[in-house]
Formats: sequence, structure tokens, C-alpha cells
Amino acid sequence: MAAKFLLPEDRIPTTWYNVLADLPKPLAPMLHPGTREPITPADLEPLFPAELIAQEFATRAEVDIPGAVIDVYRQWRPSPLVRARRLERALDTPARIYFKYEGVSPSGSHKPNTAIPQAYYNQQAGVRKLTTETGAGQWGSSLALACSYFGLECEVYMVKVSYQQKPYRRALMETFGATVHASPSELTESGRAALAADPLSTGSLGLAISEAVEAAVRSEGGAKYALGSVLNHVLMHQTVIGQEALLQMELAEDYPDILIGAAGGGSNLAGLALPFLRDQLRGGRSVRTIAVEPASCPSLTEGRYEYDFGDTAGLTPLAKMHTLGHDFVPPSIHAGGLRYHGMAPVISELKDLDLLEARAVPQTACFEAGVTFARNEGIVPAPESTHAVRVAIDEALACKESGESRSILFSLSGHGHFDMQAYLDHFAGKLQD
Ligand SMILES: *Cc1c(COP(=O)(O)O)cnc(C)c1O
Repeated sequence: MAAKFLLPEDRIPTTWYNVLADLPKPLAPMLHPGTREPITPADLEPLFPAELIAQEFATRAEVDIPGAVIDVYRQWRPSPLVRARRLERALDTPARIYFKYEGVSPSGSHKPNTAIPQAYYNQQAGVRKLTTETGAGQWGSSLALACSYFGLECEVYMVKVSYQQKPYRRALMETFGATVHASPSELTESGRAALAADPLSTGSLGLAISEAVEAAVRSEGGAKYALGSVLNHVLMHQTVIGQEALLQMELAEDYPDILIGAAGGGSNLAGLALPFLRDQLRGGRSVRTIAVEPASCPSLTEGRYEYDFGDTAGLTPLAKMHTLGHDFVPPSIHAGGLRYHGMAPVISELKDLDLLEARAVPQTACFEAGVTFARNEGIVPAPESTHAVRVAIDEALACKESGESRSILFSLSGHGHFDMQAYLDHFAGKLQD
């Protein structure tokens, strides 16, 4: 009985899937932070190169992936889809549990799927340097790698609590050639204002975004900004995950009843789920999709669906999304990649249309699930990914209860090799809900 479903390199997708083509109604436009009018492509020019702006507004269903990007994807794509048979046996469940494993990428998560094309389009546009923020360091290390491949400088504002908790992620970014600052920093107006208000501030993703945006806009000589989640083009780049998974489920002669992903900004969940939802939106097979978020940062389950800024200082456009408010500072849980006040507009709209469910789970229950998974499947999940593992296990246990054999596919968005302190804290009973 096969455990892994692998595809050859020539099955790496050659197009990304753009769900905007298939949504029942257009997304609410982003608004300019000053005028509150719908933004135009020109408004985004200080931040992004023309091709990425065009992708942000694109409404055609398929967008070609450049050959130079596919050549880099070849280093780890197609990623494996694995049937978690040992976990199934341990849970004694009739459910069939599959996971799509993105931890095989060079930085250990799904984030290079978009970092690579973002760096490529910037390089093509003559940009010399990218600025960005990072929470746990997954995005920062992915962009640092992509910048190194395409010969760009990379400057990363890392949320201070993670800068202190995760020194090895910073070391990884520096190894890939990036410069890393703890945020809030003294280098930007937003950072200085935050430090003046609270000298001991441990930062937030929203604030680090403000700093990185400011650093790009103020730079002399061609710096732009890159975002690792939330935006339409970022979610679109991640659809390589679900397109591969569709083919791999065919190899497994199965089709998921339930799709599960941890949702911070929504990109890995979108990457897995959108290609399946495409079939559903076009009248094909339907699938239950569950977004999992931390109970301490419950933007989809408890946030309001309204216009809000993407960052703390109000420098970014406003997007209609599920949000806890741009000044919300989530508690410093270990799943740093899920500590974002907002949610991708695409994911927010799918939730509003009842095409997607959301569930919030406390972190200790997630680490318990992560440990169970590691002991059976041999992979230590990233703290973010343990949220998906938790709900996959819960759904499998529900099948055991009801005696139904459902097919569950979840996104194992990354490994936790740089997060072992979080596991140590879990074993020492130091984690709080
Ligand atoms: C960043 C990250 C997430 C959360 O971000 P999304 O945009 O919601 O995918 C989840 N898992 C891992 C491993 C991450 O690095």
C-alpha cells in the first residue's frame, strides 16, 4: 500500500490559478489610505513591480509561471503528498488522512512558492533591494533565499519577540545574505513612534509591516516591498500546492471530503484549497474546507468583516477582510506566523459566502497534536502547522465516533526544526492558552 504519492518534475504546474475569475461576485476593491477611494495600479507602484501589480488585479483564471521560476521550483517541487497510515492506525480511525508536505522547501515551508516569483519579477523590473517583515522568520528566510538566487539585497524587519525567541531563523536569513532588524526599530518613524509609546514593545506583524513599507518607500535607489501572505497575487502563487495535490489524489484514487489548513494570512490554505474550490465553483465536486486559527488571534472566527489597514501605522491600503483591528497585538504564542490581525480578502470572502468554515484552537491542544503526529509520521510540524494537524486529528476522531470513512487532506505547511524551543516549552508545561 503506497504511502507517498510523488509526481515527476515535468508535472510541476505551468500556470497559477486565479480564483478571482470564478468568484460569484468581484472582491471589494482595496482603498487608498489617504483618499479612501479604490486604489489604482499606479497607487501600488512605489511598493511593487508592474507585473505583480497586474497579477494583483488580474481576473483571468490562469497566469503563466515564468520558466525561470519553474527552474527554481524544481529544487523541491512537486512536493510529496503522503497518506498518514501510522497516524490513522494510532487513532484507530476509519478516516483516510493525507497531508501535502511543504516542509521540503529550502526554508522549510510553503513560503518560497511566492518568494521566488516575487524576487524574480522585481529583478526583471530592475529593482535592487527588497524590504519585508517577518514574524517567526519563515517568510523572512524564504525571501532572503529568493533574493540571493536573483541577486537582490534583502532587508527584514523581524517582530522583536521572535527575534529574541528564534535566533536560528535570524541566522538562516543572514546566511542567505539578508540584513535583519528587530522590530520595532529606531530606523523608521513607525518604529520610533512605537518605542516612544512603549519602550519595551515586543512588536507585532502589523508594526513590522509598517516599518518595512516605510523603509521601501523612503529608500533612495530602487527598493521595493514584498509581502508573504494576504494579497491576491501571493495566494495565487501558492496554488501550485493544490494543483499538485489534485493530481496526487488521483494517483491515490481518492478525493478529499475535507481540506484543512492553518490560516495566518491565508496563503497556504488558499494554495491547497483554491484548485479544489475551482471545481466546486464551476459546478463540480464539492469539498468542506476548514481554516484553523489560534484561539488567541481569531480573526476569521471572531473578527469583523470590514475595511481595515494591513499594518499598524495605517500606511498600507485598506482591504475588506476579517480583522481584529489593525492595532490588535496578539499574545506572543509560538505560532508566530499566525499572529496577524487580518485575513486575506479572498479567504474572508469565501468564509462570508459559506464556502469555507473557520475554527479556532488553543495552542496546547495544537502542540499535543503535533507531538502525536511526530511520533507516528516522523515529521515535527511547525507550530503554525500543528493547528491543521489538530483539526485533522479531531475530524478523524469524529469519523471514528460516527463510523464514517472520510477522506481528509491537510496542509503540513512547514517543519518545526527551528522551533524546538516551543516544543521544549510545551514539554515543560510552560505554554498557556
Ligand atoms: C507563515 C506560515 C503560516 C501562516 O501563513 P499563511 O499565509 O496563512 O499560510 C502557516 N504555516 C507556516 C509553516 C508558515 O510559515
